[in-house]
Amino acid sequence: MSEHTTDVLVVGSGIAGCAAALGAAREGASVTLVTKTTRPEGASTWWAQGGVAISRDDPEGFKRDILDASSGTANEDAVDVLVENANDVVRNVLVETLDVDFDTGDDAEFDYSREAAHDQRRILHVDASTGKHVHVPFLNYLDAHDRVTIRDDTAALDLVTHEGRVHGAVVEDGDEGEPIFAGATVLATGGIGDLYPRTTNPDGSTGDGIAMAALAGADVADMEYVQFHPTAFDDEAPSAPDSEDTADQSFLLSEAVRGEGALLRNADGERFMPDYHADAELAPRDVVARTVAREREATGEVLLDTSPLDFAAEFPDLLEKCEDRGIDWETGIPVAPAEHFCCGGVAVDDRGNASLDRLYAVGECARTGVHGANRLASTSLLEGLVWGLRAGEDAAGFDPTVVEAPDLLNRDPELPDNFAREKFVRLRRVMDEYVGLERTPDGLGRAHGVLRRLKGEVDAYVRTRTSRSLYELRNASITALLVARAAAENDDSVGCHYLADGEPAQARADD
Ligand SMILES: Cc1cc2nc3c(=O)[nH]c(=O)nc-3n(C[C@H](O)[C@H](O)[C@H](O)COP(=O)(O)OP(=O)(O)OC[C@H]3O[C@@H](n4cnc5c(N)ncnc54)[C@H](O)[C@@H]3O)c2cc1C
Repeated sequence: MSEHTTDVLVVGSGIAGCAAALGAAREGASVTLVTKTTRPEGASTWWAQGGVAISRDDPEGFKRDILDASSGTANEDAVDVLVENANDVVRNVLVETLDVDFDTGDDAEFDYSREAAHDQRRILHVDASTGKHVHVPFLNYLDAHDRVTIRDDTAALDLVTHEGRVHGAVVEDGDEGEPIFAGATVLATGGIGDLYPRTTNPDGSTGDGIAMAALAGADVADMEYVQFHPTAFDDEAPSAPDSEDTADQSFLLSEAVRGEGALLRNADGERFMPDYHADAELAPRDVVARTVAREREATGEVLLDTSPLDFAAEFPDLLEKCEDRGIDWETGIPVAPAEHFCCGGVAVDDRGNASLDRLYAVGECARTGVHGANRLASTSLLEGLVWGLRAGEDAAGFDPTVVEAPDLLNRDPELPDNFAREKFVRLRRVMDEYVGLERTPDGLGRAHGVLRRLKGEVDAYVRTRTSRSLYELRNASITALLVARAAAENDDSVGCHYLADGEPAQARADD
């Protein structure tokens, strides 16, 4: 077994992992960044559309919007860290270091956009495909950095721990596991979309960092708060074109489209959002998502009507996606809610420290407290950037120690190929039915039972193998259990955790 040491090990190459690597390298640390993917498209960061919110000259207003979107459940101290650092970090890293060319208006000032539940224009963007314009330069910059080594196509499987301290991780190395020993380890593994049948996240979003941290004994929090985006393209809608040979069916129609005036209509052509919320289409995400689901169920489909804006001019990237798929966007784009963001994760402090010594978590796999029960649009890239940088700086400066690492060998080549696939189908069905947009105590109890059994079946195999698909399934089943358990233990119907038997958070005025 080969042996590798580094000052800081970063797991994941989205915006949070990149920022952590940058922060640690700027402090003089050697950094090894491992990532499951070979292409940037494997990270949610690459797919981000709307942009990056900043405070501009009104941090208090930004803070108020974040707290309101979370129904007052976000942690105020964490929100202060975000809004107070937003302008400087975005200018220093994105504008000055990476040279991101954010859109400007005629006066050469930034062209700030507005999205749902923001009370003013404060979102920097590049068309409606901001993610790739941030992510690609970030990876290029780190590739060229002499203190950073990026290892593509390398999944971390388990953390290496000794006497309550984290000393790195075991990563894939062919059929075996290879330990990488680190002074500090930063988890930046992104979201949990693969737990649900419909998601905006890329494949492989199996909650690996959350599961690895939980297995090692770290605290996780707020896992019940799973955010669904209200407007992903609905490839199953009656008016959707026949789409068998197109990839990426569930692409996102960014909140910015509604921010610029698009309306939601049901299959009868009725605009329904004003009946549910005073802010209509710009109500908080959880409200819009549940309402879209309800109207879709009742009438057959929901369409995003872009006629109030100049869609072609304002959203050329989305127009191209529609045209590629043969969607007749001028008569309305069929949309449905899709899993989008995990507000909970590994519990961390204001510098990304987890509850285990020398372990950090940043970005979507971390629970900083910024989002509480519901995330305000376009705050996630910013959170990954702010916490990533802070955690990276903090993680630099510890010497790596070589300790005994778990011995992970592939001893069972007979595992059926479709084992992981079948289990994933079961897991997603349970999550969709009982732990999705609307939950009931009975349903959550049922989900918990099924998921426990499923995890038991998977554990029996994982003891002897290192296959990535099996580890992903293990991580997904642990993360699913964490979501179901947290949801079952929380009687408060708030934000993304909506209990159908609880107080109606979105009843139609005349219901
Ligand atoms: C379609 C879409 C649009 C969005 N639009 C916006 C927006 O406009 N503004 C905004 O603020 N947010 C937006 N979001 C949310 C935001 O993009 C994500 O929350 C954010 O990018 C997460 O960054 P991250 O670095 O934490 O994770 P990611 O960018 O998802 O990166 C995770 C990384 O971890 C790696 N990884 C995972 N497991 C392992 C493992 N076991 N071993 C090694 N590597 C591993 C993955 O390969 C990947 O490189 C959007 C999300 C989506 C999906």
